[in-house]
Amino acid sequence: MKKIRVGQGIDFHRLKDGLDLWIGGVKIPSGKGCIAHSDGDVLLHAICDALLGAAGLNDIGHYFPDSSPEFKNIRSTTLLIRTYLIIREKGYIVANIDSTVCLEKPRIAGFIPEMKSIIAGIIETDTGAISVKATTTEKMGFTGREEGVVAMASVLLEKDDVNSQSTNE
Ligand SMILES: [Zn+2]
Repeated sequence: MKKIRVGQGIDFHRLKDGLDLWIGGVKIPSGKGCIAHSDGDVLLHAICDALLGAAGLNDIGHYFPDSSPEFKNIRSTTLLIRTYLIIREKGYIVANIDSTVCLEKPRIAGFIPEMKSIIAGIIETDTGAISVKATTTEKMGFTGREEGVVAMASVLLEKDDVNSQSTNE
C-alpha cells in the first residue's frame, strides 16, 4: 500500500518595470519582473508550498524567511531543491504536479517545456509528471492590469506505508 498525500500552494508577486522575470526556473524576456526577496519565481514558490503542505509541514516562509539575509536574491531553484530534500527526508516522492501561472503578458507558453524539464530534474521525476499551464484574467483585476502575477500548484506525494506493509505480511 502507498500512502498518498495531496497539497496545494498559491503565490503572488507584484510586478515592477526593469526587474528580471523568473518563472519555473526560466528567465522570461519581459519589461517587468517580480518584486521579491528571492528571484521572485512565483511558480516555484507555489510548488514549494504545495510540496510542504502535502507533507503536513509549515509554509515556505517558515523554512526560507524573507527576513533572512541568507535568502536575499536566492534562486528559487535552490529553494525547490531544499524543499524537495525536506519532503524526501519524510520519505515522500512526488507522484505528479499540476500548476497554473496567471499573468497578462508576456505569453509564456513557449517556455513551458523548459520549465517542466527544470522542475522534473529537481524533483527526480520525468516531465510527464509535471504540468504547467498558463492563463490570463482577460485584462481584469491586478493581473490584467499587469500589476502582479499569480501561480497555483497542486501536488501528489506518495510513500510506502510501513504500517500496512507489516500487517499485510
Ligand atoms: Zn513568492
